[in-house]
Amino acid sequence: DRADFDSEVDSICPFCGVGCQVSLKVKGGKIKYVEGINGPANEGRLCVKGRFGFDYIHHQHRLTKPLIRRDDAPAKGLNVDPGNWHTHFREASWDEALDFAANGMKKIGGRGVAGFGSAKCTNEEAYLFQKIIRQGFGHNNVDHCTRLCHASSVAALMENVGSGAVTATFNQIDNADVAIVIGANPTENHPVAATFFKQFAKRGGKLIVMDPRGQALKRHASHMLQFRPGTDVSMLNAIMHVIVEEKLFDQQYIEAYTENWEIEKAHLKTFTTEKMAKICGIEADVLRDVARTFAGAKGAMIFWGMGVSQHIHGTDNSRCLISLALMTGQIGRPGTGLHPLRGQNNVQGASDAGLIPMFLPDYQPVSDDGVRSAFTEVWKSGDFSNQKGLTVTEIMDAVHDGDIRSLYVLGENPAMSDPDVDHARDALAQLDHLVVQDIFLTETANFADVILPASAFAEKTGTVTNTNRQVQMGRPAVTPPGEAKEDWWIEVELAKRLGLDWTYTHPSEVFAEMKLNMSSLNNITWDRLQSEGAVTYPSLSPVDPGQDIVFGDGFPRQDGRARFTPASIIAPDDVPDENYPMILTTGRQLEHWHTGSMTRRSHVLDGLEPEANCSLHPSTLRKLGVTAGEYVRLSTKRGAIEIMAREDRAVSPDMVFLPFAYVEAAANILTNPAVDPYGKIPEFKYSAVKVEAV
Ligand code: SF4
Repeated sequence: DRADFDSEVDSICPFCGVGCQVSLKVKGGKIKYVEGINGPANEGRLCVKGRFGFDYIHHQHRLTKPLIRRDDAPAKGLNVDPGNWHTHFREASWDEALDFAANGMKKIGGRGVAGFGSAKCTNEEAYLFQKIIRQGFGHNNVDHCTRLCHASSVAALMENVGSGAVTATFNQIDNADVAIVIGANPTENHPVAATFFKQFAKRGGKLIVMDPRGQALKRHASHMLQFRPGTDVSMLNAIMHVIVEEKLFDQQYIEAYTENWEIEKAHLKTFTTEKMAKICGIEADVLRDVARTFAGAKGAMIFWGMGVSQHIHGTDNSRCLISLALMTGQIGRPGTGLHPLRGQNNVQGASDAGLIPMFLPDYQPVSDDGVRSAFTEVWKSGDFSNQKGLTVTEIMDAVHDGDIRSLYVLGENPAMSDPDVDHARDALAQLDHLVVQDIFLTETANFADVILPASAFAEKTGTVTNTNRQVQMGRPAVTPPGEAKEDWWIEVELAKRLGLDWTYTHPSEVFAEMKLNMSSLNNITWDRLQSEGAVTYPSLSPVDPGQDIVFGDGFPRQDGRARFTPASIIAPDDVPDENYPMILTTGRQLEHWHTGSMTRRSHVLDGLEPEANCSLHPSTLRKLGVTAGEYVRLSTKRGAIEIMAREDRAVSPDMVFLPFAYVEAAANILTNPAVDPYGKIPEFKYSAVKVEAV
């Protein structure tokens, strides 16, 4: 009986960056069911994860007490049974566990300590986390999963338009007549956004899908460009070459709002469609047609995902997309814009809040003395380093080198999410002191010295920011199990034990402090978020719901001009050879979220997709003598896994697609840790692989 509930609370879905607003219906202290409500991004819609993926909150394996590693525990490894952890850990009081965590960090101190914050936590919790590392240890070794997600997109956007966030909400597709979706599979990864894209196509909008893998949006596409993996720059430069050759660019816009055009134009000369077609595998005529369609649009948007960003040339890929929008003047008006579809529900907010080793909140550089002193004035503390800190993968290397010996991990799971994950697991095992704060005994928590039981989204108060720059209020519907606590409370108690003078008693006080040095939050107050539910930044007045479209009259760069940065062709790092003849690409699937820590503990979602699987083309399966449902062995230079094979015509015959949510066949045992030089993002989307029948 759906009318039979005790209370209903409005909050935000904890999964993807779409940031759907939900109504949580509670009965007997548990969430009974979830409905979509009329949030600015979702307009009442939800996908299967938002609607049915909430029951992990009540899973029997929730952490309910602080745990400390036993003196007689077996050697650290991926060896803890989450239902029987007593062999490795003992229960502790909060006081003992927090003292243990803080004393271990203090003993090592300074640059020997690093932190991974979380895009699953609130803005306030992200802000407090970076503050602990910077104020408590005097340096910037703090990062989070943006490094594995859109770091290269942000690097290109910061460089060329002066801001790392989207220039328009995805809902602006309602006003567009052409849209490119490249290196993204929104039907699986941003499903509610995908419903807007499909409606756009049904209304007659031209949807240009570009992806090495076929996908459900293909059915709605006016153009489907299934290009060769890793050849984005060739394809995009060829399209821009046509726009230049046929003089389809917007000279007026270029003159008014950009710089470096002549250099870009000259650079594109050699990227002829005929030459590039041979590299990217898309016919020259199709490239020309796409160029004319995009340049001829009244309003055109570009959406991209990790198929663009997770390459050693990820920043170059994004530079091309930015250049394409700039040369055609497709920014700053309704139905135009650049939109990297953000992954985790609060990866935009966590990045804005400063969980980045090179930036303080609002992307203010740590190297700027004035910026640092503005923060230390508010924090009433001494200065911290002006040097960029280490990134996620650099921190693991520094552990191997003995430079980092203590790590504080909040809500992240590097034992599953890092590339070449055995390297990361070895690093976690080598640490002298690992503090893990989470809701489950994750794969990373297997290696912990102390585990602090935290809260799920439906148990806490705080703001989150979605892919659209919409700051939204998350509200608690149920209480945390046992002695588990809200993350901000744990951070405050830990900070006090580190000797920091923190007196916060509620997240609203943290939000008020954030506003002092974050102009993006101007006109956005806690009270407004409580009453309005969401405000988009920038908001221009106390009653402005926020600007869906930005940069209508210049950019936040020198002279207000955006920049063209030419991109050249760079081959992937780990190319196929006779030993590893195929291409491995990894990603997510509709039912499972990232490393699976939540969705694999959701009854419905795990019931829909219970087993690790990889996708192969039917001709590849035939060649291997394997039938769908049987097992194959995938090997790269880093390692090997055995996994069930699926037949999938969307994958080309020389490719394997592998979701990364499954610990029993962890995709990242295989992936390449080589990184993009600007965004420092690993090349998850391309590794040479051998596939064999088992
Ligand atoms: Fe949640 Fe994303 Fe699905 Fe919306 S689209 S319900 S935010 S997972």
